[in-house]
Amino acid sequence: MEIHVVLIGFLLSHANLVLADFTYEGLHGPQHWGKDYDECVGKHQSPINIEEHIVKNISLPKLELLELDSQRDFYIENNGHTVMLKINSTKRPSIIGGPLGSHEYVFEQLHFHWGANDHEGSEDLINNHSFAMELHVVFYKKTYKSLQEAIHHSDGLTVLAYFFEASDDDNHNYASIIDSLPDIEAVGSSTSLRNQHVMEEMLLPNPSVLQDYFTYNGSLTTPPCSEVVTWIDFKEPLRLSHNQIAAFRNVHSPDGKLLHNFRPIQPLEDRVVYHNIPLPEDNSHNADGSGQSRLHPSFPFALGAVLFTTHHGMCAYCINFLSVFR
Ligand SMILES: [Zn+2]
Repeated sequence: MEIHVVLIGFLLSHANLVLADFTYEGLHGPQHWGKDYDECVGKHQSPINIEEHIVKNISLPKLELLELDSQRDFYIENNGHTVMLKINSTKRPSIIGGPLGSHEYVFEQLHFHWGANDHEGSEDLINNHSFAMELHVVFYKKTYKSLQEAIHHSDGLTVLAYFFEASDDDNHNYASIIDSLPDIEAVGSSTSLRNQHVMEEMLLPNPSVLQDYFTYNGSLTTPPCSEVVTWIDFKEPLRLSHNQIAAFRNVHSPDGKLLHNFRPIQPLEDRVVYHNIPLPEDNSHNADGSGQSRLHPSFPFALGAVLFTTHHGMCAYCINFLSVFR
């Protein structure tokens, strides 16, 4: 009897473990996620292929990262699926503007996706082009107070995506995180980062990078694949050296080296991908000078101004205007 109880207990705990876990190949790979997680076969999944010839141009309020430079304790961990950076503090960076309007989203974690070679590794593609790596910076809507609560709401999360191309030269902005990778090769291991400026260096290499992006509504790219993410994908890729990218492939999953961890692209279905065309600085603020974004009231005017001034033709304006708002 005791053996049976122990055995049943083991099987139940093992079943829970299997249900809760996922991998990037084999029986629990991306093709099978939908068996355990219903939302992974939804209609608005990520990643997608962004085709530039069908994106809609738009001009949104200025996207702003706040409190990136405050002193904090950073640490990175290997959770068996990726390398993740977190903060040991309740005072966290946040983001407003762009497609988020005046709603503030709070930093939760950032993590990386990579491939078995430098020709693949990103999750979203642009014009069918796969980048060597992709960085995801995850924020939850401040009003929901936590990531766990936010993933139950359609506007719960926003994720910034930075693409990386391979180059011959090291990118020193990423040196502190990559130099720490040998310390977290084992699943479940973590280490603190001494560089207090790691987020500034990684996410703001050049302020202009922040305003040139694609944005669309999608999902988490890992189970439970919740369709709650406003994606913001920066168009201009950053660079990491071949050696820096290779360092990620030494990180282990429960099945051995984690050689790749990107989900294949999903159907776009009825979604529209927008490309932000930044307005001149003066026009990205409200008339009251508060600098606070007001997405919805400014949306049609900003769009009209951009399309009119960039295309110099009423027809282009009308076609784009109607297709966005119908
Ligand atoms: Zn990710």
